Amino acid sequence: MNPKRQKLKPDKQLIKKAQKDYQILETTFGLPEWRQPLSALDELVSTILSQNTNDVNRDVAFNRLKERFPDWETVRDALEEEVVEAIRPAGLANQKAPRMQAILRQITKERGCLELEFLSELGRERAHAWLSRFKGVGPKTAAIVLQFSLGIPAFPVDTHIYRVSGRLGLRPEKMGVEDTHTWLEQLFTPNQYGPGHLNFIRMGREICHAHKPECPRCPLIGLCDYYQRLQTVN
Ligand code: SF4
Repeated sequence: MNPKRQKLKPDKQLIKKAQKDYQILETTFGLPEWRQPLSALDELVSTILSQNTNDVNRDVAFNRLKERFPDWETVRDALEEEVVEAIRPAGLANQKAPRMQAILRQITKERGCLELEFLSELGRERAHAWLSRFKGVGPKTAAIVLQFSLGIPAFPVDTHIYRVSGRLGLRPEKMGVEDTHTWLEQLFTPNQYGPGHLNFIRMGREICHAHKPECPRCPLIGLCDYYQRLQTVN
């Protein structure tokens, strides 16, 4: 991880506000659970497939891979066109297939086998850094594997969480998405990372839409900087 990120620290008031947001979302949406946990390698592949598509298409592509290939070794050694064809429903198949196969080859070269459970022994920073070396594995993908498969606390930030956290004023306006990961991890406690990730995504999908946020029905309206600014302007 970028060591400079460690220097940015939110103040106590912001942490308090984040905690209120979290509690309100938990009251509104409940305590969500991750879909059935996958092995770390399955989660990595599934998350790569999920890039730039929705959960349904990701799952269709993932299941097609599992149906057509008996194991990850076969995916690794398959003709690229076969993998492209299998994952086509996830979109960007011409890009995702070679990336996935390159990652599978690299893991085999370094580890002698295709499994990633050893990462839980490395500790958070080293496990994150190990995963982030691969092309196509950004901070969100690495954090998802850590948090939801390996049980290592991490707060993955997707496009919804980035937008909602910006509007609420939970992060500096100009902070990039990569730095937002470390920032949000300081606003929430590790046991809140998983449910917080899921509930903020739900907020973004169902209420705080990119183009037309439905502020009047938003449970966080009283804590939202964006909404306050709108009131001042009008
Ligand atoms: S009040 Fe509006 S802009 Fe603010 S978080 Fe809610 S929906 Fe988004």
